[in-house]
Amino acid sequence: MKRTLGIHHITSIVGHPQENAEFYGNVLGLRLIKKTVNFDDPQTYHLYFGNEGGDPGTIITFFPWANARQGRIGGGQVGVTTYAVPVNSFDFWKNHLADKGIHVTETTRFGEDYLQFEDVHGLKLELVEREAGKPNTWSNSGLSPDVAIKGFGGATLYSLNPQGTIQTLTETMGLEKIGEENGLVRLKAIGETANIIDVPTEPVPNGRIGVGIVHHIAWRANDQQDHLEWQSLVSYKGHNVTEVKDRNYFDAIYFKEPGTILFEIATDTPGFAHDESYETMGSELKLPPQYESRREELEQVLPPINLTN
Ligand code: ZN
Repeated sequence: MKRTLGIHHITSIVGHPQENAEFYGNVLGLRLIKKTVNFDDPQTYHLYFGNEGGDPGTIITFFPWANARQGRIGGGQVGVTTYAVPVNSFDFWKNHLADKGIHVTETTRFGEDYLQFEDVHGLKLELVEREAGKPNTWSNSGLSPDVAIKGFGGATLYSLNPQGTIQTLTETMGLEKIGEENGLVRLKAIGETANIIDVPTEPVPNGRIGVGIVHHIAWRANDQQDHLEWQSLVSYKGHNVTEVKDRNYFDAIYFKEPGTILFEIATDTPGFAHDESYETMGSELKLPPQYESRREELEQVLPPINLTN
């Protein structure tokens, strides 16, 4: 039996990259830790935001498709992405989001309060106060470590086959069911953070790919050896898993779970500081070796991104 620590990263499709960067960098106060291209479509960006070090469990990544149609959030997707903030920071966040003109809804489940809102392109996000997780020391937009987003708290998965999704989470990924209420099952991974997954027990109507939806969720593997063990296990459990793909900052394998959500398993190593220094991470366009010869062309095609920090 293998057990993932929890979420490694979540990747979504959004609209214009400048609007995306302003929202996650300036409104949510995350660090743009990597500015690179979509390795399968290098004329578009792949932007990574996280805590100051880009630690696994804090990383949200985006494929900005500036002119694409709006998607529909629904079954077969991560429905809601949950961020953990420090205890006693909700008053700050209510004021901060109101100042930015963002409509917030308050809700409670499994004994925890949540602030729910949408990003600039319609992705569903929420904040929850949690003790766990180290403070985020990336100072930006006036967000101090006592209020700053620490990383993921977890996610709500919208499944077309909830029993199949829950079974995959427990029997393949090694999460544990810890609760059920009001049509939701709650599962927990063994990591300290990015570890709480809620799944509606009724199928959610089909989503549609486009702007404002999550593309996939990635779970943590330790290193390359551990990753190969995961690949064997996923295959043994009957899932159709891909070969190992080198994503420059981690290795990745992918499979569709029975509820049609795209799962990835990603290594913690080598991480984001291997091709630029900690101090300068995210400031320059980084290209994988296969695209370095096209740098001039790509820098002309990709729109500039300006952040206030
Ligand atoms: Zn990924």
